[in-house]
Amino acid sequence: MKIHLSQSAGFCDGVKRAYEMINTLDMENVRKPIYILGSLVHNPEVVKKIEEKGILKITLEELVAAKEGDVGTLIITAHGIGPDVFAIAKKKNIKVIDTTCPKVIKVQRLAQVFYQRGYSVILVGDKKHSEVNGIYEWGGGKAQIVSDRAELANLKISSDAKIAVLSQTTQDEDFFNEVASFVKSQAPQAEVLSTICHATHDRQAEIKKLAGEFEAVVVIGSPISANSTRLFEISKTLNPKTFFVENASEIKLADFANIESIAVMAGASTPDWIIQDVMDLLFSSFEL
Ligand code: SF4
Repeated sequence: MKIHLSQSAGFCDGVKRAYEMINTLDMENVRKPIYILGSLVHNPEVVKKIEEKGILKITLEELVAAKEGDVGTLIITAHGIGPDVFAIAKKKNIKVIDTTCPKVIKVQRLAQVFYQRGYSVILVGDKKHSEVNGIYEWGGGKAQIVSDRAELANLKISSDAKIAVLSQTTQDEDFFNEVASFVKSQAPQAEVLSTICHATHDRQAEIKKLAGEFEAVVVIGSPISANSTRLFEISKTLNPKTFFVENASEIKLADFANIESIAVMAGASTPDWIIQDVMDLLFSSFEL
């Protein structure tokens, strides 16, 4: 059996940075209680480790309802957030630790600048994802979000308007290009900026290659992780023997009967220890 671990598997630079920022917090001297708005990354094991440090989860509704002193410190996750949260924190005298990935900040600023310059922003991304909500809010809450082909079919474009097309950093490149081509065909003057980050680009390029070269593919990630789910979907389209697992306990060895080669990929929110468990299981279960 040939078992190959993808070069780009696991935490991306943005997630590593955010995780480091939290792990190196001087907990004695941080204003308490400490809350994190949402999940640092979409991975339950990482979330649990953060909770064990004494950092509690808070929702936007709870933050809005909190009185001064209820929240000492607020951690913003790598996915970023809209400008209103910073204003709320300031008003309630909450200290903010902002772990937003610099690549997400870049998209937020682009959305803001295009909005301020009178552009209609088209944002290609998952409507339910916190990164997309944050970018949307930096864009004045006016962007048209395109999440899928049904929404692309309903997209209203004015041929003489100032239009800018941006993407969620973890967006599927093929879908982004499809939206960009359609917008350009309707409004050739549109500004198209692919803001898909390099970590996502490299992973998507690699999974396409691995899906073609290996008989089976294992994608490790949480079903609530947008980038992991996307990697799974891309691979599954090219290679039906693609399996999506959250951790080693979900591996079914029978799936690999009569298979000679397996590639392992992991989303940007999957920690090293989960990848290691999966590799250990595969290496110990098959003759190499
Ligand atoms: S996937 Fe890209 S944009 Fe998102 S946190 Fe990682 S490096 Fe940053």
